[in-house]
Amino acid sequence: MKHYDLLIIGGGVLGVFHAYHALNRGLKTALFERNPQPEGATVRNFGQVVPSGMNVKWQETGRKSLDIYKALQAKHDIGVRSFGSIYIASDEEELTLAEELHAINKAQDYPSELLTPAACMAKYPNLRSDYCKGGLFFPEEISVNPRVMIHRVLAHLLADPNFDYFPGTLIRALEEVGPACLATDNSGRQYRGEQTFVCSGVEFEWLYPELFRESDLETVKLQMLNLKPQRAVQLPGNILTGLSIRRYESFSECPSWSAIKAREATDSFWKQWGIHILFKQEADGSIILGDSHEYASVGEGARSDFYVREEISRYFIEAGQAIFQLEHWNIDQQWLGYYSQSKTKDIFRHTLGGKIHLVTGIGGKGMTASPGYAADNLSELFD
Ligand SMILES: Cc1cc2nc3c(=O)[nH]c(=O)nc-3n(C[C@H](O)[C@H](O)[C@H](O)COP(=O)(O)OP(=O)(O)OC[C@H]3O[C@@H](n4cnc5c(N)ncnc54)[C@H](O)[C@@H]3O)c2cc1C
Repeated sequence: MKHYDLLIIGGGVLGVFHAYHALNRGLKTALFERNPQPEGATVRNFGQVVPSGMNVKWQETGRKSLDIYKALQAKHDIGVRSFGSIYIASDEEELTLAEELHAINKAQDYPSELLTPAACMAKYPNLRSDYCKGGLFFPEEISVNPRVMIHRVLAHLLADPNFDYFPGTLIRALEEVGPACLATDNSGRQYRGEQTFVCSGVEFEWLYPELFRESDLETVKLQMLNLKPQRAVQLPGNILTGLSIRRYESFSECPSWSAIKAREATDSFWKQWGIHILFKQEADGSIILGDSHEYASVGEGARSDFYVREEISRYFIEAGQAIFQLEHWNIDQQWLGYYSQSKTKDIFRHTLGGKIHLVTGIGGKGMTASPGYAADNLSELFD
């Protein structure tokens, strides 16, 4: 039986970036993914890498991730594009929050620019002037293509002789035996490692199901769609709109946040379904549009509710049409994605014995925070 320094279970962004940093440290590393290719949250998201949306603590981790993604892209095309992020305010309240976040970021030494409506229109000629009251732009932020990024990072890691990747391999049992961890796959094959990270996303049923059931983790279901390619329209970068200003954690640190949130009607459709409106155009001209949020505790079978709701997609389109004038609004695909999050903490990290580390519940910030967070995790364990 081969012996590794590190076993990693789960080939999403958390698992793969734990592998990336382990290999940079020269550790013999094995990564297990139960599907032939990762197909969890990591390939179903927007691919917006937006430290600007995070509280001050996680923004630091997100900024570390920006450096990691950019350094990787410089060596190997992993699908990173550097067009920044913009938050577009639709009323005076959202504009106030944008101004206050600008001041917070200035104090944090994180570059952002307040844009007048005219400057926003110049940047995005398809923006509707009756929607835009101003914007906050983050020039250093990037987008990744979620359909390709993780596969390309994995392809890059495969060139390292210290790396063994086991796709299509479900780890069904994991225990500490003497000085090592022993993982057993669905065919009964065993793998030994000094330490193990379990980065299993929302899949609580395979390993330690009782521990997860008793935890405060919840599964969040998101609905998304993309519009067929349009060449005459250019929407560069990550585009977040008024409802994102009213949702993202970074804005909750603004002085006016509580008063503004207290004035919101509680019975709106967008509130009922946890909707905010984001756009992300891919290199082929298609545009990802979403998203909505529904919550269920572990064990409530959230993933068995697999229906796409037509009224939510219709809302995305109608709300989107109030923001941009596009060439067309023809839907190409609609899908659901699921991530896990802790109800009380900003990530779920639990160590069993001393060698098995469960890491999940990174929530809606996984594409932004995982590369930086994984680097910190490796330092904690191996430095
Ligand atoms: C619709 C949507 C939009 C989002 N948009 C953004 C965004 O724009 N920006 C951002 O920062 N974040 C975004 N997120 C959040 C981000 O996608 C997640 O936080 C992140 O992908 C979680 O990564 P993960 O590795 O924990 O989980 P996953 O990507 O779900 O990966 C877990 C993997 O573990 C595997 N696995 C589980 N158990 C086993 C086992 N026992 N053996 C082998 N393999 C196993 C699974 O097959 C899976 O591939 C979004 C999420 C969704 C759903």
